[in-house]
Amino acid sequence: MKPILILFSLLILIGCNKKPPTSQDLNSPVASQSSKKQLIDLSHAFSDETIYWVTAKEFDLDTVFQGETDKGYYYAANNFSTAEHGGTHIDAPIHFSKNGQTVDEIPLDNLIGEAIKIDVSAKALNNPDYQISIEDLINWEKKEHIQIPKGSIILLQTGFSKYYPDKVKYLGTDKRGEDAVKLLHFPGLSSEAAEWLIQNRNIHAIGIDTPSIDYGQSQYFKSHVILLSQNIPAFENLTNLEQVPAKEFKIIALPMKIKGGSGTPLRIVAVLNN
Ligand SMILES: [Zn+2]
Repeated sequence: MKPILILFSLLILIGCNKKPPTSQDLNSPVASQSSKKQLIDLSHAFSDETIYWVTAKEFDLDTVFQGETDKGYYYAANNFSTAEHGGTHIDAPIHFSKNGQTVDEIPLDNLIGEAIKIDVSAKALNNPDYQISIEDLINWEKKEHIQIPKGSIILLQTGFSKYYPDKVKYLGTDKRGEDAVKLLHFPGLSSEAAEWLIQNRNIHAIGIDTPSIDYGQSQYFKSHVILLSQNIPAFENLTNLEQVPAKEFKIIALPMKIKGGSGTPLRIVAVLNN
């Protein structure tokens, strides 16, 4: 065979060897690198360790069936029950605002979009009654050399998720019931800072890595009232916030679509641009 024919035959052989990509190829590190996206799960799993408000019904998973059926196939199914407000969840505006949106009415625009993160963990981890201040918000803007961008989803990192699910460290108490409410100690957003955000910036949603957007010792839940009255939903009991940057990432936060619901468990994910 002449050299040019050998080369030609080789090219045909190489060409025939090309196969369409398998699903394994698509999941390979090369494929995820080329998409230049990194996904961070900001949700706690639901289990019998899930932390609820001290007066709320806790998560319950009941086995309906698990095992080999008499027809020879395997089958598993459970029932679950839960309060709306526990674990990683959303507060729909109606939670603290009579005419606010119910969870099924929250526009997707408030749940999916550009996000920023404000890290106050250096202060909050030293003070379980810490309230995030207007100054903390302004300091973020100075450090990042931008205003909080219009339509942002704001995540507040207190560092408290590292205590989850230890109730004493995370909530301030492992007691339950009405009398335990006054024993709650964890950081939150001050009502002044909530008001400042509404008056001076345009935000689509807010989230925090503690059980509530108001701090544990709050009696009137003013930050809830201020934000939810403006149809700004709140995401609570978030985790992994230390893995997201201060800006230039997206949030996808999809709650179960309960008609008329005041809140519901939430799967929330950060999408990072590498
Ligand atoms: Zn809630």
